[in-house]
Amino acid sequence: MSFRGNKSYLPSKPCVVCGRTMTWRKSWAKNWESVKYCSEACKRKKPRSS
Ligand SMILES: [Zn+2]
Repeated sequence: MSFRGNKSYLPSKPCVVCGRTMTWRKSWAKNWESVKYCSEACKRKKPRSS
């Protein structure tokens, strides 16, 4: 058995609201570029600096 793939590699980035690291999820596959919030709660909270 040899695991040579990059199975363990997943992109990640910080949530713009809480700063928590979000790890890529399959449900974000099609819109990963535009994902900014880790959760619905953060999405509603939004940073007020604009
Ligand atoms: Zn967040």
